[in-house]
Parts: sequence; C-alpha cells; structure tokens
Amino acid sequence: MADVWYEDGLRFGCRRCGGCCTGAPGHVWVTLKMIDEIAGYLGLDRDRFGRRYLRKVGNRYSLVEKAGGDCIFFDRGCRIYPVRPLQCRTYPFWPENLRSRSAWELASRACPGIGVGRLYTLEEIQPIRKGEADASRGD
Ligand code: SF4
Repeated sequence: MADVWYEDGLRFGCRRCGGCCTGAPGHVWVTLKMIDEIAGYLGLDRDRFGRRYLRKVGNRYSLVEKAGGDCIFFDRGCRIYPVRPLQCRTYPFWPENLRSRSAWELASRACPGIGVGRLYTLEEIQPIRKGEADASRGD
C-alpha cells in the first residue's frame, strides 16, 4: 500500500453538531442514482424531487440550499440520513482533507469530530477516500 502520512489511522467521531451541513454556501453533488434514492425515500418521483431540491451546475446536479447556505435537508439533524449523498457519507475523509497532516488539521477547525472518536485504520480510510465506503459504518 502507498506510503501515506496517515498510515497509523485517523480518529473521527461525528458529534452531530451539523457544522458540515450548515453555514457557508457550497455544493452537495448528487448523481441520478442518488437522486432516485433520496426521492424514493421522500416518496417523490424524480421530476418532483428535481423541481424542489435540485439545481443544475454545469453538467452536474447539486442540492439546493436554504438562505444562508444550510443544507436544505438539515433540520436539527439530517432528514435524509439513511440515503444521504456520497459526499456526506465520506466526510471528512475527502482527498483534499487527507492531502496532508496540515490539511487534516485545518479541516478539524470546522469539524469537532476530527481527532476524536474511534480510530479508522488505513485499510478503512482508503475505500472511504475513494467513495467506495461509508465513513459512519461501524461508528
Ligand atoms: S461531521 Fe463534524 S462538522 Fe459534521 S456534524 Fe459531525 S462533528 Fe459536526
């Protein structure tokens, strides 16, 4: 396995503060498969879901946000947690946060769960980083 700075693993345990779901505007990218999963969870068809909750950005789709940037599905917790988008499932083990120790430490300023909680091993982190696994699995 490639030599990475986090070969001894990293600690993370979500504090459920909502910090990553609220605040500054951004994008939560969704694929058609995710759109269908979320729409189905909410009992909506794809078109109805799209009109209410999606915006097109270039050739991709992102969830709309509340005024101020909070996620449209955040209401004292995630309203679509079982079917939340991959981006949410893999946070904070995103490539940009894993680029270096300083990038991880920078991310920890916005996320009180980084550096606490259970130890994720390198073998667990790498598939999450690639979007092939869920960060909260087994947490
Ligand atoms: S991932 Fe971090 S910022 Fe997001 S809710 Fe959990 S503790 Fe808060």
